[in-house]
Order: sequence, then C-alpha cells, then structure tokens
Amino acid sequence: MSAPHAPHQLFVTTALPYANGNFHIGHIMEYIQADIWVRFQRMQGSQVHFVGADDTHGAPIMIAAEKAGLTPQQFVANIAAGRKPYLDGFHIAFDNWHSTDAPENHELARQIYRDLKTTGLIETRTIEQFFDPEKNMFLPDRYIKGECPKCHAKDQYGDNCEVCGSVYAPTDLINPFSTLSGAKPELKSSEHFFFKLSDPRCVAFLTEWTQDGKLQPEVANKVKEWFSVRTNPDGSTSEGLGDWDISRDAPYFGIEIPDAPGKYFYVWLDAPVGYLASLKNLLDQRGEDYNAYMANPALEQIHFIGKDIVTFHTLFWPAMLHFSGRKTPNQVNVHGFLTVNNGEKMSKSRGTGLDPLKYLSLGMNPEWLRYYLAAKLSGRNEDIDFNADDFMARVNSDLIGKFVNIASRSAGFIAKRFGGQLGTVSADGQSLLAALQAATPAIVDFYEVREYGKALREVMLLADKVNAYVDQNKPWELAKQEGMDARLHDVCTACIEAFRLLTLQLKPVLPALAAQVETFLNVTPFTFAQAQNLLGAGHGIQTYQHLMQRVDVKQLEALFEVPEPAAPALVPGGEDIAPTISIDDFTKIDLRIAQIVNCEPVEGSVKLLRLTLDVGEGRTRNVFSGIASRYQPEDLVGKLTVMVANLAPRKMKFGVSEGMVLAASHADEKAEPGIYVLQPWPGAKPGMRIH
Ligand SMILES: [Zn+2]
Repeated sequence: MSAPHAPHQLFVTTALPYANGNFHIGHIMEYIQADIWVRFQRMQGSQVHFVGADDTHGAPIMIAAEKAGLTPQQFVANIAAGRKPYLDGFHIAFDNWHSTDAPENHELARQIYRDLKTTGLIETRTIEQFFDPEKNMFLPDRYIKGECPKCHAKDQYGDNCEVCGSVYAPTDLINPFSTLSGAKPELKSSEHFFFKLSDPRCVAFLTEWTQDGKLQPEVANKVKEWFSVRTNPDGSTSEGLGDWDISRDAPYFGIEIPDAPGKYFYVWLDAPVGYLASLKNLLDQRGEDYNAYMANPALEQIHFIGKDIVTFHTLFWPAMLHFSGRKTPNQVNVHGFLTVNNGEKMSKSRGTGLDPLKYLSLGMNPEWLRYYLAAKLSGRNEDIDFNADDFMARVNSDLIGKFVNIASRSAGFIAKRFGGQLGTVSADGQSLLAALQAATPAIVDFYEVREYGKALREVMLLADKVNAYVDQNKPWELAKQEGMDARLHDVCTACIEAFRLLTLQLKPVLPALAAQVETFLNVTPFTFAQAQNLLGAGHGIQTYQHLMQRVDVKQLEALFEVPEPAAPALVPGGEDIAPTISIDDFTKIDLRIAQIVNCEPVEGSVKLLRLTLDVGEGRTRNVFSGIASRYQPEDLVGKLTVMVANLAPRKMKFGVSEGMVLAASHADEKAEPGIYVLQPWPGAKPGMRIH
C-alpha cells in the first residue's frame, strides 16, 4: 500500500455548544463526525490536538441563570458538570474541554480586539436601542415583541416577522413590549463598537478566502451570495458585507471591552476565540508553548460546524483572525441537521427526539450509533435522518451479520484445534487478503474527505467477499472431515487475517471494538500502514470473546417511548381520581407552555380575566379564565403558564375563548377556597408541548 497522505499537524475543533442546556443528539452527531476524523488522522500518524469548550456568555444564559436563582458562573458550571457522561459514553475523545469564561479566553479575546483596533477596523457609533425600564437593561432583539410593521401580525420578534418573513429593526415594531417584564420599552441611545467588515480590506480578503477551497463547494456558493451588492429601485445600493456590532451594554454576562467600562463583547465575538483558549489551556497543561505551536507554518486548523453558524465561521471569524495578525482556518467542514424518524430538526435551539443519555441507559452500544451515523454521513453539507428500522437493519445485518461473525465462525477452531496459533494461507486465501489490502488506500481516501458512508460501503463489500470465501469452504464441515486439518487451519487463518484487516479499516468508527480485537489478536494498536502486513504463520492469538450484541427491537421501542404518567393514587382533594385512560387518550390533549403577554379585567364580569397568550404560533390567542378572584392582571403579565391548545374555541358572552388555562382548585370551593394557576419550572418556552 502506498502512503497517499503525509502525516498532518492538526488543530481540530467542534462548534462550542451554548451552555444553557444538555447535549442533544445533534451535538453528539457532530462530535462523532469529528472524532472519527481525528482517530483516522492519528492512525495515519498525524499529530492532532482536538478540543472543545462550553460557549457560556450572552443574554440568554444571564436571563436563564437569573430565573434559576443562580449566578451565571454557577449556572454554566452546572451545565459543564453534565458533559462527561455524554462524551465518554460515545467514545468522543476530546483532548480538552474548556469554557469561554476561562481566563485564557478573556485574555485572548481582548488581545484580538486590541489588534483589530490597531489595524483600524474597530469603530464606535451611537445607536438607538430599546431599553427595559423595569429590568433596567438594553433588550436583545429576541426579547422584544410587537406588531409587524409590514403585515401587522401581532406578537412578532424584534428582528423578523414569522408571518410575512420581513426583516426589520426592533425600533420598527408597532406597540413593542419587553418579553422579560411586559413593560413598554423606551428608546435610549448607546455607544456601540463595530467591526468594519465592509472595509475594502476585509471584503478583498474574504472574497478570496471563502473561494479558495477551504469550504465545501455548496457552502462556498452560498457564502458568495452574501458579497453581492444590489442596486435598489431608487438607485442606492445595499447588502454586501455589513459592519458587525460587537458590543453589548451592561448588565451582560461576558468579557468587558478594554478601556470601555460597562461595555462587553457580544457573545459571538468571544465564542470562537474559545477554540484558541481551549487549545492554549491544553498546551499549558502539557508544558508546551502556545505561540510556538500556532506559529508552525505546517499547522492546519480545522473546524467542524453545523450549517446554522456558517456566517460566523466563514466571515467574522477568519476576518478577526487575519486582521489581528493570526492564523486563519484551513478548513471549515459544514454538516447538515439530524432528523429523527423523519421528525423535527435538531438544531442548537430545538429539542430532541433521541435522548443520548437515555440511549446509553438502555444498554444500547454507543458503537452502534457511531456506525450508523458514519454510514449515513458524507463530506457534503446535507441533512441526515436517524430511522429506527434502518438502524436495526444496518447494525444487525451489516455490522454483526457480515463483520463480527467472521471472527466468531473461525476463532474457535484456531483455539481448539491448533493451539491458538495461525497457520499458512494458500493461494485462494492469499488472493482474498490481497484484495482487502489493495482496497485500503481507497478507504483511507474516503475517510480523509469525510465520506464515511462510502468508506463503510467499501468495507462491507470486502466483508461480503470474505463471507463468500467462508461459505465456499465451510470450516464447520472441514472440521468434521478426516485428513482436512491443514485445510481447516488454512481457511480459519485466512478468516482471522481478513477480520484483522476489516477491523483496522473500521477502527476510526469503532474504537472500543477495535481495542478488544487488538487484545484478542495480541497486536499493538492498529495503524493504516499496518494494512500492508499480515500476522503470518505461527502468530498466537487469545481466546475469542464475544464482541458485540445485536440490537433488540425492545430497546428501540423503549428509546422512543413517551414516558407514561405515574399510576393514579387516591389523593385528598375533594375528588376521586378519574378513570384510567390510555396514553393515546392523553396525547389527544395538546397541552402547551403559554406566555401571558397581556391580561386585563373583563367589564361586566367579576370572575373572568381576559388573557392574551403566546403559544409560539406567530399569533396570540384570546382566552377567558375564571381566576379574577385570586389574581390581579399585573400579577400575570409576562408569566408562563400551561394551556389546553387544541380545545375547540368557545363563544362566550364577552367574546371567543381560544383555549383553556390550567389551574388547580378544591372540588368544594367553600370547603377550601382558592384557585392556583399552573406555572412551569424555569427554562420552559412558549409553544413547548407538555408530555
Ligand atoms: Zn409581518
């Protein structure tokens, strides 16, 4: 086998997950994709530093921490403490996991900013922005809602309308309100810092950088569109690269801008710097010099990211690095989203359909998932789907049926009949092994360009050849025939040699199984260069231990099962528990988290309040609720509650009620007065379904 790829010096990262929640399956897919590539590179002799970190700053974390009654530092520390079971569980071997709130990141972000300022690419401008007079803070766009200035849809976010798709400034909204307090925001001016991406130097640099092969062709084409300048009907021009607002006003959880008290870096400025901070922290731990490492001209910097954060990684990040005199990325590898059973998209902000920890807790083998995802992944930016039936078929028929069984069908004879020693392979076996060796460079090429699906297809075609050889020679029959010992030894040796080559080819995807096979075969850790060699006659192997179980359909059923509500018990409340219903009955009731965006008394009724509810539909609902005896309208505005979202609208004396808010009360109002509106725990968002 020729060595088509020289060893690389590689600095590899995955996107930094926002530290406001646990990992979901989309994160795990990205980490597995990168981990396979890193393991492949190491098998090729490359030196790799593979790092990750939590992205900890910004308004959403500051607000979530406040709601949870924690400091932002405590909040993100709790999230960080939960990372290890996921990473270890799926054999994702980062060399370091760090935080963007670490001292290295504060220092590096400020240095980069100072260097950009020296280059003349930082500018300050006074802008008008909405300010929440109750919370005493400037409001990020996502925390302002109001009426769309174009189509007049109610309850639209401050940056774009989800009904008509218009993009606008929050100041364009009609009747804006703060989603934090419900207060009417005030316009206040503030000095902001901008990174001048529109500077001709930036445009010239990025025009070339984004089109010279560092990006996948489909990504490069998309990025190209962002550079185009359009002429408006009135003759003016717009679009092209706009300047980037990189500052936020206190209170903000982030890094304070040098020489600008009360001004902080916008979270997206310091987040990618976290790649460098995690690397620096790793090198410091190892007693190596960060600056010397980064100055190596042979060093390649590789980022794995999802398609939702391409702008940050192909425009802002390379420009920040280049114009601060630093090394720019060599590759930005973009992947699509993962859908589960053709369900909803998994992105940074959405929920999950396949809970990674639940998968592990059910005793499901992490390498099944690695194998399955690898079989679906390509080098392109495209979405993939996890399909339960397909998963079971690929793992049971391909991985176990075609591959693992080769060892289990031949190893026993070597142990029992030949003292655990391999024999000599004759011509037919030799030609089989030569075919496996000859195919290895093509498999290496596929791994190099992240065409894992193609690599695994190639390995499975080779496994088919080996199985055809086994079926032709039938070692179990040879074992019963007199005088066929030498042939049995020959055939079983060929099978073990073939199994070794296939395991070597699969090792980046199946590291734990490969380690077991290395022990079984008494060999040093596999590298791709070793595919040129065979174990040879006289090599002793260990007793074969079963390597992998099949997927049980019950595990998959349990994985996707919606947890059943607890069994009913008799609880004092003035009312017996209602008759048992099935889970199907329960799922007919669509319960949603709703935000009470407005609440007012109903003229002519002492019992009712009129609630305006946001259930994440891009419109609001009008609901009447008989809770006026206990709540003042101002107690409820801005709060979250639970509503029945699919109740048929009811025409009432005061108007149509489009749903029902959940509240608890005693069956006998006189025995125990009081009504209590349900409120979810912190973190729930309008529109989330209650299961
Ligand atoms: Zn609109």
